[in-house]
Amino acid sequence: MISVKKIEAKKLNFLERIYITEIIKGLIITSKHLFSNLIRPSSMPTISYPEQKVLLPGNAKERSRHRIKLRKDGSPKCVACMLCSTICPAYCIKIEAGETENSVEKYPKLFDIDLSRCIMCGLCVEACPEDAIVMDTEEIPGGAYDRYANYRKNGLYASKKELFENPPHKHISKSGAANRLANEYLEGK
Ligand code: SF4
Ligand code: SF4
Repeated sequence: MISVKKIEAKKLNFLERIYITEIIKGLIITSKHLFSNLIRPSSMPTISYPEQKVLLPGNAKERSRHRIKLRKDGSPKCVACMLCSTICPAYCIKIEAGETENSVEKYPKLFDIDLSRCIMCGLCVEACPEDAIVMDTEEIPGGAYDRYANYRKNGLYASKKELFENPPHKHISKSGAANRLANEYLEGK
């Protein structure tokens, strides 16, 4: 038997209905942030992204720029099964398979990701049966004024070479006052 609980909507008084008090409350909160940031600018550091990279907070680390893991012998773990490119909703992974000496295994002759189209959804990582593609570099792709102009050079394109050689945290300097403040700010300290 399902019990249904009826909750009456709270009746608003006259002042609440004309929103005057709510607008004033909002302005007080905005002013508090404005003046506290004016008095203590260090509480809200400016991050000169994309030139300055900072460590990403929390789960954002798991949705950063891609890399392909390598085996101990230096060969890619990727077997060019195309599952990642098939599931990719942005159609931004391009793979060409090549044959290895092992007759049952392929390797990616070409593996490119067009980051100007990637929505960082992480579905490629979830689909990979080899745990070969991961998004743990803690770097977010750079910005550009025009995604199509020279996109192979503006940081919005990950080639096979870069995907294979991109270790986690390669681009992030963990030292420096601005970085420290930015990290503290992002962590909500
Ligand atoms: S993160 Fe999503 S959009 Fe980007 S390459 Fe992977 S599946 Fe495609
Ligand atoms: S799903 Fe994994 S193994 Fe298959 S092509 Fe993509 S990265 Fe390679």
